[in-house]
Amino acid sequence: MTIHRNLIGGAPAGEDGRPNINPSDTTDVVGLYARATADDARAACAAARAAFPAWSRSGPMQRHTILKTAAAEIAARKDELGTLLAREEGKTRAEGIGEALRASQIMEFFAGEALRLTGDLVPSVRPGVEVAVTREPVGVVGVITPWNFPIAIPAWKLAPALCYGNTVVFKPAELVPGSAWALVDILHRAGLPDGVLNLVMGTGAEVGQVLLDSPDVDALTFTGSVPTGRRAAAACAQHMRKMQLEMGGKNPLVVLDDADLETAVECAVNGAFYSTGQRCTASSRLIVTAGIHDAFVAAVVERLRGLTVDHALKEGTHIGPVVDERQLAGDLSYIDLGRQEGAHLAFGGERLDRATPGFYLQPALFTECSNTMRICREEIFGPVAAVIRVRDYDEALAVANDTPFGLSAGICTTALKHATHFRRNARAGMVMVNLPTAGVDFHVPFGGCKGSSYGPREQGRYAAEFFTTVKTAYLAA
Ligand code: NAD
Repeated sequence: MTIHRNLIGGAPAGEDGRPNINPSDTTDVVGLYARATADDARAACAAARAAFPAWSRSGPMQRHTILKTAAAEIAARKDELGTLLAREEGKTRAEGIGEALRASQIMEFFAGEALRLTGDLVPSVRPGVEVAVTREPVGVVGVITPWNFPIAIPAWKLAPALCYGNTVVFKPAELVPGSAWALVDILHRAGLPDGVLNLVMGTGAEVGQVLLDSPDVDALTFTGSVPTGRRAAAACAQHMRKMQLEMGGKNPLVVLDDADLETAVECAVNGAFYSTGQRCTASSRLIVTAGIHDAFVAAVVERLRGLTVDHALKEGTHIGPVVDERQLAGDLSYIDLGRQEGAHLAFGGERLDRATPGFYLQPALFTECSNTMRICREEIFGPVAAVIRVRDYDEALAVANDTPFGLSAGICTTALKHATHFRRNARAGMVMVNLPTAGVDFHVPFGGCKGSSYGPREQGRYAAEFFTTVKTAYLAA
């Protein structure tokens, strides 16, 4: 099997090919991917530093053309890339193709942004002086990504980084090197000069840590868990380095008595269980008022009964496997914990056997939960949701906000007053009304508050806040 190698200074690097295993079928090796060392990561940082002066002065047309070329190739290969993604991560093929298409849209958006960069020329308060306010690239950007969106998250970090003239050292999650490698290969062949984009595949402890420690890294954009995010924050503070951290969630979906039941059930099932519940925006807490509670639970259980959990590439599969053995063990231990805490397991929660050896888990729905239970406070990151019964809207809002996280919050209601009040008062970076908490657009900001996010928003035009720095120049003529 060919070894897919790292990319450092424009050259392939690394011989140590590790198998990338399919979670739907552990006998299927998706490919061999070179594991970078700490020295490789340091070399990548140095290469990005060396490439920065020229790339930062490259014209917007060059950046536009490269991103547009990459967008077109991703779109043309969306089926193949989506299949690769589904094979290495375990989301369904349809979800994988959708994600590949999303990566293309993001590239296309930032191809346009490269040509839309503007500044301000303003008269100074001093006669005869003009003030120019411009945006400049930050420098070398370290990019560290999680496994759950193997192509979309890298795309929404790499595209703005390159669009605004930064150079990059990219470390994807160990479990999903395939999508990352393909994306970097496409961007590289689209015309990026050597050293502008460097790929180092490897562990967080060895390769990721170099990105945290390197004095060559000027800004760090990280998506992953809260503990790693805290570590990244401490390192960035130590270096006085700009940072953007996107972390976990424990997202509430409020369902009120006046909700349209079908809409509420669709939002809950999609938000909590699609993509195997492995989304930072997943609706893991379903907060339901008493009048609709029983009908809602019965309808959700009915829907869950109709979902097929199977091989991600199989026609008719609704929910693919959990990403790996470790994550599955974690999900199962939370399911045990929920039982011990006194929640009622209304559906699912057991490991499933399928024709191929994989990490299959029947989606789990807990009822009779209290918001103080650990299954309601800690991010599980699997197909597990907890229903919390509340009296009325006021209690629902209080419970929704009673969490250390603040990424996404949803409400299902037909009352404008509740929808409006919730939009204004939910403590979350993103609010969804009659929509699942997961599933966002690519041209508007993404991010949260409290323990979920730190630093400027990702995506859309707001991405410029992180990927550029503002210069104010005074000119006397
Ligand atoms: P993780 O924190 O284990 O790993 C994330 C990345 O950090 C990986 O690339 C990993 O190798 C790297 N890493 C680990 N230790 C490191 C170290 N010492 N130094 C530098 N890098 C290190 O997270 P994960 O399990 O890959 O992803 C799941 C988490 O990501 C969940 O908490 C989920 O909510 C979160 N997530 C958040 C968003 C968001 O936008 N808010 C999106 C997707 C996923």
